[in-house]
Amino acid sequence: PKQPAVRRNEERRRGKLTITKAFDDDSGRQRSLASMRRRVERERKKHMGVQEAPQKIIREVVIPEVITIQELANRMAERAVDVMKILMKQGIMLKITDVIDSDTAQLVAEELGHTVKRVAESDVEEGLVGEDDVAELKKPRAPVVTVMGHVDHGKTSLLDALRKTDVAAGEAGGITQHIGAYQVELGSGDRITFLDTPGHAAFTSMRARGAKVTDIVVLVVAADDGVMPQTIEAISHAKAAGVPMIVAINKMDKPESDPSRVKNELLQHEVVVEDFGGDVMSVEISAKSGLGLDKLEEAILLQAEVLEVKANPDRAAEGIIVEAKLDRGRGPVGTVLVQRGTLSVGDIIVAGTEWGRVRALINDRGENVPSAGPSQPVEVLGLGGAPEAGDVMSVVESEGRAREITDYRQRVQRDKRVGTGGRASLDQMLSQLKEQDRKELPIIVKADVQGSAEAIVQALEKLGTDEVTARVIHVGAGGVTESDVTLATASNAPIIGFNVRANVQARDAARQGGIEIRYYSVIYDLVDDIKAALSGMLSPELRETFLGNAEILEIFNISKTGKVAGCRVTEGVVRRGSHVRLIRDDVVIHEGKLSTLKRFKDEVKEVQSGQECGMAFENYQDMRKGDVIECFDVEVVKRTLD
Ligand code: GDP
Ligand code: MG
Repeated sequence: PKQPAVRRNEERRRGKLTITKAFDDDSGRQRSLASMRRRVERERKKHMGVQEAPQKIIREVVIPEVITIQELANRMAERAVDVMKILMKQGIMLKITDVIDSDTAQLVAEELGHTVKRVAESDVEEGLVGEDDVAELKKPRAPVVTVMGHVDHGKTSLLDALRKTDVAAGEAGGITQHIGAYQVELGSGDRITFLDTPGHAAFTSMRARGAKVTDIVVLVVAADDGVMPQTIEAISHAKAAGVPMIVAINKMDKPESDPSRVKNELLQHEVVVEDFGGDVMSVEISAKSGLGLDKLEEAILLQAEVLEVKANPDRAAEGIIVEAKLDRGRGPVGTVLVQRGTLSVGDIIVAGTEWGRVRALINDRGENVPSAGPSQPVEVLGLGGAPEAGDVMSVVESEGRAREITDYRQRVQRDKRVGTGGRASLDQMLSQLKEQDRKELPIIVKADVQGSAEAIVQALEKLGTDEVTARVIHVGAGGVTESDVTLATASNAPIIGFNVRANVQARDAARQGGIEIRYYSVIYDLVDDIKAALSGMLSPELRETFLGNAEILEIFNISKTGKVAGCRVTEGVVRRGSHVRLIRDDVVIHEGKLSTLKRFKDEVKEVQSGQECGMAFENYQDMRKGDVIECFDVEVVKRTLD
């Protein structure tokens, strides 16, 4: 009996070593107890006349960190009831579809005389996304297009107008279904797929989740308005994703339209259109009159040809969830954009943390279809829950496999929510860069005014050592938005806020994605920090610690003291003597100290979240209703450590 015990330990060591496992292995007492238990059990069986099958095949069973009973039985070529019986003897009552952890699974497998190979948990994902298809199997597919641009420049109008150019739509009676994407068939028979969830955040959040959906970005710029902040943002997002752009100069029907002004302004953002000797196609259109839509579609197809967008349609489907919802009548519904292979009714699919058997597929015209090939968007019915936009969808061979993967992902998600985070803190970014031998540190800069934003970019671009330089991938004026954070997540970039703050959504997203947002109010400090970071000397200490926020509810004029802000503390605490900033629309208006902190009539040291208080600044009066007062300590890290 000594022999198998030793072998078992060797098997174990191949798996992940944990403290309990290490302890288990080293402890002779535990080992002999376990083997004793088994020996007693064998003796008992013998007495009861239970004989093990004489020609039993001993297998090396691969055990992930969790496995369903059915799957474990399959892997051992045993009956699931036998597995359940063993568990029952241990007092564990489970169904065939329940999952057990690897320790239990190992016990069962060894009980049945098999050897065990434990694998790392993440191994369950292995092979889920297949290798790239060989070139001969790939066939041309419709390009997938995202429309981006400044608000009111005509994105929605353009998507609507393009949809009407679909020749097949007429036949189906023109009933269109909004499913997050649609496909247009042109007179030539060529097809183009449009994602009709415009918005840079949607585009980049998909990318942040590892999904590359878009082949081509159509940048809509209104000819009567020119390049605007969100135009610039769109350019940053497209460039960061490495997706080629086609410029659609819209509203050409308007008398005040000025396309050459648009092209000139684009030049300043390093988008050089063909007329100016660059390689970015531009088309003058009107979403209203329909002018130039055919030319735009031609340009898209041309760009697609250059890109050689192709996929193998004859394989198990893989795709991306572009939209998902819980439908009252139909249950969880996800729109899948198939990227390669063909998705069919009856397939077992995994999407993010959800899985299911495809019950029905419905296309963008509301028709039931038996299958969907590359670049075709379809609604999928049959998932157990709604996945998230950007989730990768794959077809798997069995329900057991589907469950194993989604169980694993749900656990990872839970662990993440509990939060170890810290994915893109500046320090980690730099050590990652060193590991990867990369030369650039991507940075996103938001500032209160365009002037300081530009000054910061210039200063940052002058920095850099032989090892690493800073590269500003997006710069803009205004507070840090969720869209900035998704771009940061996708590009693994820290965000620098200069005299601006992140709004609530952005802060939440940053916390979830582990993105570091650093705030500065002095350019010198900012440049110093980045310089230090780049030369690998960045001190991990925080310069300042956030204490709390208070919202101004009302302003009182008090004859002696001047203006006093009646506030409610919305977050954390506000403390007398600490530093404060006055923030209006996410922009820092003033920085200084409090002269007064009052609760009712009394001067107090501290006011907690949820309570109301009166505050006044030293030498500053211009507070307004709706402003936020941010309270922070400087160098508090050291102080709490003594
Ligand atoms: P979005 O915010 O980018 O989605 O822009 P919309 O598609 O909602 O359009 C904003 C406004 O511009 C609407 O009032 C449209 O009717 C108008 N608009 C859009 N395209 C054109 C166009 O080609 N010509 C004219 N004259 N107006 C347009
Ligand atoms: Mg719109």
